[in-house]
Amino acid sequence: MEYNNCPTCTGEIGVNEDGYVACVKVDCDFIHYENPTPVVAAVIEYKDGNVLLAHNAKWPPHMFALVTGFLEKHEHPEEAVLREVKEEVGLDAEIRGFLGHYTFKKMNQLIIAYHVYSDGEVELNDPEIDEVKVLPFAKVRTWTSGTGEALHKFLEAKGYSPEVISFS
Ligand SMILES: [Zn+2]
Repeated sequence: MEYNNCPTCTGEIGVNEDGYVACVKVDCDFIHYENPTPVVAAVIEYKDGNVLLAHNAKWPPHMFALVTGFLEKHEHPEEAVLREVKEEVGLDAEIRGFLGHYTFKKMNQLIIAYHVYSDGEVELNDPEIDEVKVLPFAKVRTWTSGTGEALHKFLEAKGYSPEVISFS
């Protein structure tokens, strides 16, 4: 979000000594902290030994990635990640492990990544996701941003050294 004027006092907006966008008035304490947004991400292990990746309808055709989503109010990340997997690819999944926290600088997000497992049937009911890809662990390639690092860590723990690709 960009400000033309201070949302607290309508004063002028500048940059403070710590580098934050802030109100320039000395008697106003508005600082635009831009705290990162938490986002859950699922490395979906599908039917023993495979990873299921999802394609967002807005992405380039070759780009498949993790299922991700925002937390709802008061929702625990474990509930959120299972809800997102159900909503986006129709799978009832279970948590198998926590893969760590990752930063996604471009979107100012904190990625909270889980390993989940499912052997159910995929159902694409969410218009956001238009295709999935199921790959054996040995064929999965990862990428450099937050969710790619989580996938990389998962595969390394399974004994693989996945190739890292660039999406750009
Ligand atoms: Zn102000």
